[in-house]
Amino acid sequence: MSTNTTAPAAATSTASRTPAPTKAPTKATPAKATSKPKASTQPCRCGCKAQTVRPEALYLPGHDARHAGTVGRAIIAATTPKQRNTLLASLPTENLKHKAMGMVKTAADRDAKKAAAVKAREAAKAAAKVAYDAALKANAA
Ligand SMILES: [Zn+2]
Repeated sequence: MSTNTTAPAAATSTASRTPAPTKAPTKATPAKATSKPKASTQPCRCGCKAQTVRPEALYLPGHDARHAGTVGRAIIAATTPKQRNTLLASLPTENLKHKAMGMVKTAADRDAKKAAAVKAREAAKAAAKVAYDAALKANAA
């Protein structure tokens, strides 16, 4: 009787302990690694030195805009047309070049507006001085 009771009990405990779900995650880990082949990814072009997520991607997500911004600012700071061309050529797509040049144009427009505002203010100041001087003269006369 005792052997009869022990045998099914042992069988039941073995069956319930069979760690089928425990094995599954262990198998899933290498599968995930193969779907992300690190060797064939490339360094992000923005200069952050991280590897891209996908092999065909030139950038990490969002880093393309960052690169265009960096190049755009460098072009604004550049002093010669040659420097500007070299900087612009460092962007890999027309879209990003367009984006960088848009930044350059926006900055140029802003500078032009600022310069115009300064000129207008100076002109207004000069006009006010002329009017003031005229008024003084008129008072003196
Ligand atoms: Zn990057």
